[in-house]
Amino acid sequence: MERLAILADAAKYDASCASSGTTRRNSRDGKGLGSTTGMGICHAYAPDGRCISLLKLLLTNHCIFDCHYCVNRKSANGPRAAFTPDEVVELTLAFYRRNYIEGLFLSSGIRKSSSATMEQLIEVARKLRQEHGFAGYIHLKTIPEAEPELVARAGLWADRVSINVELPTDDGLFRLAPDKNAGQIADAMGQLADAITDARDAKRRFKSAPRFAPGGQSTQMIVGADAASDSQIITRAAGLYGDYGLRRVYYSAFSPIPQASAVLPLQRPPLMREHRLYQSDWLMRFYGYAPEEVRQAADESGMLPLEIDPKLAWALRFREQFPVDVNRAPKEMLLRVPGLGLRAVQAILNARRQRRLTLADVGRLTVSIKKLRPFLVTADWRPTALIDAADLRARLTPPPRQLELFA
Ligand code: SF4
Repeated sequence: MERLAILADAAKYDASCASSGTTRRNSRDGKGLGSTTGMGICHAYAPDGRCISLLKLLLTNHCIFDCHYCVNRKSANGPRAAFTPDEVVELTLAFYRRNYIEGLFLSSGIRKSSSATMEQLIEVARKLRQEHGFAGYIHLKTIPEAEPELVARAGLWADRVSINVELPTDDGLFRLAPDKNAGQIADAMGQLADAITDARDAKRRFKSAPRFAPGGQSTQMIVGADAASDSQIITRAAGLYGDYGLRRVYYSAFSPIPQASAVLPLQRPPLMREHRLYQSDWLMRFYGYAPEEVRQAADESGMLPLEIDPKLAWALRFREQFPVDVNRAPKEMLLRVPGLGLRAVQAILNARRQRRLTLADVGRLTVSIKKLRPFLVTADWRPTALIDAADLRARLTPPPRQLELFA
């Protein structure tokens, strides 16, 4: 239990399947049930869209590297622990049988060498699959400094593999993770991407071809530990999606760790910054925005506004593109209207085949019609001068909230 507590706690900094950022609640006083503070079991989305519970754990938090932002770095003083591969297999199976979890998220500090640690991670996944017929979800964090053949082998047993790029710029990586090498990380991601593509092609041609990381690969970037701007982060993320076909880039707002290194900022960036980056990521992946268009939503210093979302910021900057006629505009333009999500746009496209839509029809598909009004033309509404109003941004910005001094 002691080792489980240490290694589950050490894994919480990995945001790839995070539920972080919420308020701290628990039911230890016997009132109610549930907790947002416990570590060890987290929720993630499987490739088919199901929400599943994962045992989230490090194999060991010993590490020979000294990444400044990491609680497990060799110069940190916290308690250390390690599991053997057999112990992790046993824990996974025991939790699975009790219906606590549906899968495993396994990462590790680097003990002895990158390749030796990677071998152990793969051994856990192999044993679960081959010796115990475990059909649950497995996400393995791979270690880019390990032998390329080992990194590629991880995909044979895992549903999803990931390699953390850690920081948005190579300079940041060099400064904050001196033992890591940006070239090695890029090579490992490239090899994984090739192996995933080859395996998909093979599977299309031969039913018996072995499966290889069917959930693809993902990565995590720490936000706010170095001086990289949001524009730089967006550029990096777009490059990662384009070059390696990643399923997801996770953005993790840097949080000050116990016994933090002196080179790190003392304060965490606002969590809203992480949220705005996820929104900008969404715009690129699902709303058809090119990376340079998302960057246009940022200010001169390259930072996205915190008080309004990037889609609204873009629309306010390019007002000449609006208002958009919901009854005639193509899908790409409807997707640019602030406040209209993917589902709402699809519903509009379906409904307008039957009849001309009014403002009330559109209002029923969205949370707030206030945000939409200046950007839309409907059968019974035209915003006239509203789109050019000098104070439009102020009108659409949510009022500031008074923070609590002792919260
Ligand atoms: S290699 Fe990983 S576990 Fe080790 S210090 Fe760096 S980030 Fe932490």
